[in-house]
Amino acid sequence: MSTEIEPVAEFRERARRWLRENMPPEGATDLKPDTDEAWDRARQLQRMLFDGGFAGIGFPVEYGGRGLTFDHQQAFTEESIGYEMPLMLNVPTLAICAATVLDLGTEEQKRAHLPAVLRGDEIMVQLLSEPRGGSDLAGLTTRADRDGERWVLNGSKIWSSGAYAADYGLCLARTNWEVTKHRGLTLFLVPVHAEGVTVQRIKQVTGSTEFCQEFFDDVELSDADVLGRVDAGWEAASRLLDHERAALGGTSPYTSGARPHLGAEANELVELAKATGQWQERRVREDVGEARAMNVVRDQLIAHVTAAIVAGELPPSAGAVTRLFSAENAWTQTDMAVRIAGANAATHHPGDPVDTEKVGLDYLFRAAWSLAGGSTEMARNVISERVLGMPREFAADRDVPFNQVKQGR
Ligand SMILES: Cc1cc2nc3c(=O)[nH]c(=O)nc-3n(C[C@H](O)[C@H](O)[C@H](O)COP(=O)(O)OP(=O)(O)OC[C@H]3O[C@@H](n4cnc5c(N)ncnc54)[C@H](O)[C@@H]3O)c2cc1C
Repeated sequence: MSTEIEPVAEFRERARRWLRENMPPEGATDLKPDTDEAWDRARQLQRMLFDGGFAGIGFPVEYGGRGLTFDHQQAFTEESIGYEMPLMLNVPTLAICAATVLDLGTEEQKRAHLPAVLRGDEIMVQLLSEPRGGSDLAGLTTRADRDGERWVLNGSKIWSSGAYAADYGLCLARTNWEVTKHRGLTLFLVPVHAEGVTVQRIKQVTGSTEFCQEFFDDVELSDADVLGRVDAGWEAASRLLDHERAALGGTSPYTSGARPHLGAEANELVELAKATGQWQERRVREDVGEARAMNVVRDQLIAHVTAAIVAGELPPSAGAVTRLFSAENAWTQTDMAVRIAGANAATHHPGDPVDTEKVGLDYLFRAAWSLAGGSTEMARNVISERVLGMPREFAADRDVPFNQVKQGR
C-alpha cells in the first residue's frame, strides 16, 4: 500500500467536488444559536464530513482522522466557505479539547474519545475558569480528593462555553494543597452528565445563553479519568492553553471551515457603508481601507507564526501573538462598524431598512474578544516571558505551599 500523502492540489479538487455534491449551502438552515436544534444540526453536519472522509483532516488515521497536513486542512477550509459547516464544534471541542486529548491521552482515552468527537457523537467543554478569577488559573480552588480508589470532585467552574450541550469537560482541579500552586493540579476528563454535576446557564447582555456555571458536589472520578499525570495538571493545562491561543489566533491545524467570527469583517463594512449611503464618504473609505489592511496583516501573521511554530523556530506559546492581534483587530473593526451605523447600532428594530442589529450586538460583545482564551494582558505576559524570554512577573504566592497562601475575601 502506498503511504504517499495526496498532493494538496488534488486533495483540494476532490474536496471541492465532494462539498458541491454533499454539503448544503451556507444559510440552508436558520436555527437560533444556543438551542438543542443548533447543536443537533452541528453533530449531523460533522457526521456528514466524517462519512465523506473530510473530518479530522489533521488528526491521525488511527483515531478516526485523515492524517494530513495543515495545508490540506487550510485548503479544505477555503473550499468550504459558502457551505453550511459545523463551525460551533471547532472551539473548544476539536481545536482545544480533542487536540489536548491527542497530546496527553492514554491509548484508551484517545480511542474512546477522538473517533467519537470526529463523528459528531461527543462534544467537549473546557472547565478552567472559576468565580474567583480566570487569569490566575494556577490559583484555582476546585478540588479533587483521593478517597481509596476514587477521586471526589467538589467546587465550581464558570464562563464555560456550551457546557449545557457537552458530553465531557476537561476540568482542572487541585489534588495537592501542600505544594506550590502550579505543582498540585490535575486535569480530569469529567462526564458532564455524571451524578453531582449541576450546569446552570448564564444570560449575557447580548441575550446569548452559551455561558454556563457548573457546580460539582461529590462527583466520583477514577484514575482512568485523569488526563496526563496526577499533580502534573499545570503542564497539561499549558498544552491546552497553547491549543486555545492557536484556535483564537487562527493558527490551529484542527479547526475546519471559516475561522470563528472575530468582529466585523471588511466586506461587511462595505455592505454597511453602501446600505447607509456612505460609500463615497472619505472617512468611511479610510476605515474600510484600514480594515482591509488589518485583515491582510492578520492573515500574513497567522501564516508566518504557524509556519514558525511548525518548524520549531517559535515556541507554541507564540500563538499568543496572533491571539493578541485578532482581539485588537476585532475591536478596531467592531468600532468602525458602529461609526458607520451611527445611532442605528443602538436603536435598530426589526423592519428597519438597514439591518444594524448585528453591529450593536457585536459592539456589546467586543470586550469578550480580549478575555476569551485568556485575556490580552495575559497574552502580552506570555509573549514577553515565553516568546521573548524576558523576566517573569513577580508573584507573592509562587514559592509558597498552596495551603499557606493568603486568600483574599
Ligand atoms: C467568549 C468567552 C468564552 C469563554 N469560554 C470559556 C470556557 O469555555 N471555559 C473557561 O474555563 N473559561 C472561559 N472563558 C473565561 C476566560 O478564560 C476568562 O474570562 C479569562 O481567563 C479572564 O478571567 P476573568 O474573566 O476571571 O478575569 P480576571 O482573571 O479576574 O482578570 C480581570 C482583568 O485583570 C487583568 N489581569 C489579571 N491578572 C493579570 C496579570 N497578572 N497581569 C496583567 N493583567 C492581569 C485581566 O487581563 C483582566 O483584564 C471565556 C470567556 C469569554 C469572554
